[in-house]
Amino acid sequence: MSFFCQRDSYARKLDAQVVACTRAKSEDGKRDGFEVELSDTVLFPEGGGQPDDRGTISGVAVERVVRRGGSAIHFVTTPLDVGSTVQLEIDWTRRFDHMQQHTGQHLITAIADAKFGSKTVSWCLGPRKSFLELDCDKLSQKQINELEVDANQAIRNQVSVNLKIFEAGSSELEDVRSRGLPDDHVGPVRIIEIEGIDSNMCCGTHVSNLGHLQAIKLLYAESKRGHTLLYYLSGQRVLDYLHKAVDTERKMTKLLSCGPENHVGAAEKVLSTQKSSAKTIRLQLREIAELLAYKYLHAEEKETIVCVHRDDGDIEFMNVLAGELVPHGILCLISVGPEKGAGQFLLAGPDALVASLGPKVAECLQGKGGGRKGRFQGKATKLSERKKAEDLIRAEVSKN
Ligand SMILES: [Zn+2]
Repeated sequence: MSFFCQRDSYARKLDAQVVACTRAKSEDGKRDGFEVELSDTVLFPEGGGQPDDRGTISGVAVERVVRRGGSAIHFVTTPLDVGSTVQLEIDWTRRFDHMQQHTGQHLITAIADAKFGSKTVSWCLGPRKSFLELDCDKLSQKQINELEVDANQAIRNQVSVNLKIFEAGSSELEDVRSRGLPDDHVGPVRIIEIEGIDSNMCCGTHVSNLGHLQAIKLLYAESKRGHTLLYYLSGQRVLDYLHKAVDTERKMTKLLSCGPENHVGAAEKVLSTQKSSAKTIRLQLREIAELLAYKYLHAEEKETIVCVHRDDGDIEFMNVLAGELVPHGILCLISVGPEKGAGQFLLAGPDALVASLGPKVAECLQGKGGGRKGRFQGKATKLSERKKAEDLIRAEVSKN
């Protein structure tokens, strides 16, 4: 196959004739539309790991382009007249990004092979970052750095990237890197040559000179089932990423009141302070629970029902308080969480009472829970209803 976009990957517009236009569903089956076949196309149908292009046919948006045998099929939602001449225009920002990521992949693949003997077994052009899957089980940071240096040196050298066409079976193809041709491949074979560095059988669209890649940043490597996924950015993505990183860095500088070189230390200090504060709060809550229990147990008029709510309480607070009161025959309803929002509750006391009242309390608080042996606890979605739950408990107890 050879489409106009493959012969001239920098072409952004093309006039073509509509060969066929048939009713069809979108791939997810949710939308009605039309599959349009044209005499030629400037929109690349997906292939070689490169996603398909977006663009317009005489102003009609193309939502998908796929290859079917030797044809490119364009999915649109407005029909086009068969035989008419149409103007194609490409979403160039998307396409040029794909060209930068794809040629970047060829370059990294070639250097990883030449330097470390690591072969690329697959790659993925992601929406934000891409990765190559190398057949080695790991890649050290030193190796990654060396790869990055060499890739960027090749970019600085402004090496030409050439398209070569050979007949299938030609002897020229013997030393070419390839992961095989698709089963429905027809016609001559395309080779993408990075002069002096690599020759690769590929149907994708590429930059014509490595200088157009601007830069390559290798992000990190991840081990996966004996292979290594090497994540990278190429071209404009390097600048976009840097733009975000600088923005984050400036925000962190303001938040932490220190320069970037001290961000990690300052963040570690904040986290460690937060951890020790959380521990102090936990211990103090426990003390409050014990003091509250003491207050109830030593009151002049002994309570048989205690209802306590605490916004900043936690499960331990509920457990400690209940643990102190229940042995004295007191039935307690304890809740924690924001006054009018969702939180936790615990009903604890004599077995029979808790078993019959638990589900009713849960219903009042629009929550659910469960338990056994004198404990019923769960989640409440409406803590503001706890007065209703308390009235219900008092009414039931007074009946007995
Ligand atoms: Zn390729």
